[in-house]
Amino acid sequence: MTLKVAVVGSGPSGFYATEALAKKCPGCEIDIIERLPTPFGLIRGGVAPDHQSTKRVSRAFERTVARPEVHYYGNVAIGQDISLVALRDTYDAVILAIGAPLDRPLNIPGDKLAGVIGSAAFVGWYNGHPDYRDLEPDLDCQAVAILGNGNVALDIARLLVKTRGELAVTDLPDYALEAITKSRISDVYMLGRRGPAEAKFTNVELREMGQLENCVPVVDPAQLPESIEGQDCSERDLRLKQKNLATLQSFATVDPSGKHKRVHFCFFAQPKAVLGEDRVSGLRLERTRVVDGKPEGTGEVFDLACGLVIPAIGYRSARIEGVPFDERRGIIPNEDGRVAEGLYVAGWIRRGPTGVIGTNKPDGEVVADHIQGHVAAGGKPGRQGLEAALQSKGVQWVDLKGWQAIDQAEIEHARDGAPRAKLLTIDEMLAAADDDVTEAAN
Ligand code: NAP
Repeated sequence: MTLKVAVVGSGPSGFYATEALAKKCPGCEIDIIERLPTPFGLIRGGVAPDHQSTKRVSRAFERTVARPEVHYYGNVAIGQDISLVALRDTYDAVILAIGAPLDRPLNIPGDKLAGVIGSAAFVGWYNGHPDYRDLEPDLDCQAVAILGNGNVALDIARLLVKTRGELAVTDLPDYALEAITKSRISDVYMLGRRGPAEAKFTNVELREMGQLENCVPVVDPAQLPESIEGQDCSERDLRLKQKNLATLQSFATVDPSGKHKRVHFCFFAQPKAVLGEDRVSGLRLERTRVVDGKPEGTGEVFDLACGLVIPAIGYRSARIEGVPFDERRGIIPNEDGRVAEGLYVAGWIRRGPTGVIGTNKPDGEVVADHIQGHVAAGGKPGRQGLEAALQSKGVQWVDLKGWQAIDQAEIEHARDGAPRAKLLTIDEMLAAADDDVTEAAN
């Protein structure tokens, strides 16, 4: 009998789990099930459009999905097109690798005002994600506040201040290219509630901020310590913090002449309220100091005028029907990737939204080990059962050839110098997949 495994989600964690399983369980069948017609999750919809070299990891995933034991089912939503319960009845094992698509809530007064846009939506918008393509953020303002000192905050800040020339060679959709380059934005404030030593940026990304055509980084040298001390962290993290400090110190000496935009790095500032009547007009912040690694308010409050607030304060996963959910941590409770018999988790849904793409690789290995050691083929229907269930509900799914047709269409329609012009709606994607879309009626 053949072992049949479904992997739900086609981002890095889903692909690493698939690759590990294919190697550890020869002869098994693995079906990757994805809500969108297009694969690759955050590689396509999260990694910044100007970081094409990072997106190149999808080439390895293309090899995985082309393996004979692997089938791809795009445009299939768990909970809508097939329930998790039904999926578990259909496969010997199910791996949930569905990531963390929601914003962590900001929970301060005014956080629902127009002009407050979470990073999940904003990043989705500039990445042409079908869920967010109609966001139409109002960029008609001079100053933007980005909350958080992580890589997502850096990505957003950089995209907002790049020139048309810098952006045109990315796969930023035309609508975002026009909106950003025609906007009045000249000052972006990166607001960290702790200090430079606690910032979560990685150094390559931070340094990029000093290499932009029309923008300079601005840092108040008084906020920078002379050295990094008293940090309870690994040697590796300490080195990163030291590098970040050196980079920030170098920013403090940058000559701004000839450049018209600024990214201000502001530390020790905790957001207290978003200000405005109908929409954002500013942000109220409290000065902090760091005590035992935590931000502590000093009572000194100040306001920052801005027309857009983008909280980039981390993500959380969404609850799915038929499995417990830890509301506080925003993950599915699990023991080393195991949730229940035949049910596993990998990636951000397992451990929360941390780490880089490669961090998901060991997750995939662990889950594949569990399945190899503990799950036996049980004569379940697998992909035949899945296809029958989808056909009975009239669901069109996109297979590998369908994705390849979408990919080709996007590459063919790229503007000069850009890698692709993303198709922006599910309908457009299904039309491009065309003959390769398997129709229920067939
Ligand atoms: P992150 O690295 O966890 O950063 C979140 C930031 O938000 C932190 O500075 C955090 O401050 C701050 N924050 C959290 N709650 C806050 C609140 N209530 N008020 C003010 N600030 C708050 O998350 P991320 O930037 O979303 O990135 C997620 C993961 O993806 C990270 O592992 C990141 O490295 C990775 N990523 C990597 C790349 C890349 O490699 N180029 C690009 C994008 C994302 P505290 O530290 O004080 O909690």
